[in-house]
Amino acid sequence: MGDLEPIPAVIGRKAGYTLDRSPVRHRADTHMSTFTDTLTPRGYGRKPENPEETYTDTGKTCKFHTERTLVEYLGIKPRPFFHLTCCVVCCQCLDASRPWLCYWILHSLELLEEAVPAAVVSDVCQFLARCQSPTGGFAGGPGQHAHLAPTYAAVNALCILGTEEAYNVINREKLLDFLYSVKQPDGSFVMHVGGEVDVRSAYCAASVASLTNIITPTLFEGTHNWILSCQNWEGGLGGMPGLEAHGGYTFCGTAALVILGKEHMLDLKALLRWVTSRQMRFEGGFQGRCNKLVDGCYSFWQAGLLPLLHRALFKDGDVTLSLSSWMFEQQALQEYILLCCQNPAGGLLDKPGKSRDFYHTCYCLSGLSVAQHFGNQDLHHELVLGKEENRLAPTHPVYNICPEKVAQAIQHFHQLPIPAQKGATACAEDQS
Ligand SMILES: [Zn+2]
Repeated sequence: MGDLEPIPAVIGRKAGYTLDRSPVRHRADTHMSTFTDTLTPRGYGRKPENPEETYTDTGKTCKFHTERTLVEYLGIKPRPFFHLTCCVVCCQCLDASRPWLCYWILHSLELLEEAVPAAVVSDVCQFLARCQSPTGGFAGGPGQHAHLAPTYAAVNALCILGTEEAYNVINREKLLDFLYSVKQPDGSFVMHVGGEVDVRSAYCAASVASLTNIITPTLFEGTHNWILSCQNWEGGLGGMPGLEAHGGYTFCGTAALVILGKEHMLDLKALLRWVTSRQMRFEGGFQGRCNKLVDGCYSFWQAGLLPLLHRALFKDGDVTLSLSSWMFEQQALQEYILLCCQNPAGGLLDKPGKSRDFYHTCYCLSGLSVAQHFGNQDLHHELVLGKEENRLAPTHPVYNICPEKVAQAIQHFHQLPIPAQKGATACAEDQS
């Protein structure tokens, strides 16, 4: 397993890569004549509550928005726990994503440095325990089938809570059995028994297995080669070999390879070219795929790749890397999130005109955190747009929970023995 620290202590000199670094104030002056690399409509930079005034009109950062504090603007401070405890009517369509709701909300709160009361921590632990399947792994809700996506969300949520009660919810032996039950002979994983294969599953499996210390010698046999085969001619990764490169899948595949210590086997320069080309020069935000509109959630899925790439290129011996900034326009991304992705009543969203939701709130905030913090504890450089109150806590670019919670979970679970490979035999029998 690779070193999970995103950035080493010493990095090297200034980057020489070709990301278009034209300052935001210049982008505003010139975007209409030169803006050909996205299909975004003209009014895209408009603030929904001030339709008469655009970001383009002012030609500079909007003072009103960037000087308001993020918590003030988000408006979730007065009732931060409402949806952790009351989620009956408005979220029926998310009935199979309930551990996700816990994760999205808890991670948003930790980024905002809002404490969770002990009683709520315990309630969430008990709820997630009810989502754990008797056959191992977690389901989207109590009584449902185990699935890798809510398993990832539940383990992340429990690690954010970080109490003994939270850690003790996870049945590591059964979790290992579940991972073997979804492992495929070619190294890939299905999302659930009888379900689909894609690169998300490899990431979810690698993430929970590494956090809880259940990686056996055979669990990820062949997985890195399967993930590598998802990198295509564009430079990014598709959901499966041969599919179009996509931000979410590219993050999942790259982060999984970092966990498995094989990220150097990617074509890193092609990946760097692909991901930096996904930041749009007018909006400042990222698109998920070539020729798609910018979407706030790719602030994490795409920008979150840059810390992984920075570290991988450093390990590869690149001495031209910056000591103070990632290889994307960090200020432009912060402007897009703060100016275009906030609902005045609280919460964040895809783009102006769209509804707020917990998924976009979590990933817009996660992307904002990546854009504000360069490096790790040894070498840290902050770039916070607007008031100091806009500052979020740093996030770990592999797991997307705060780095101290990753360290605490790894310290806790690495004191425990790796469970016996009961599932390995079952897997071998299945394949015979
Ligand atoms: Zn989105």
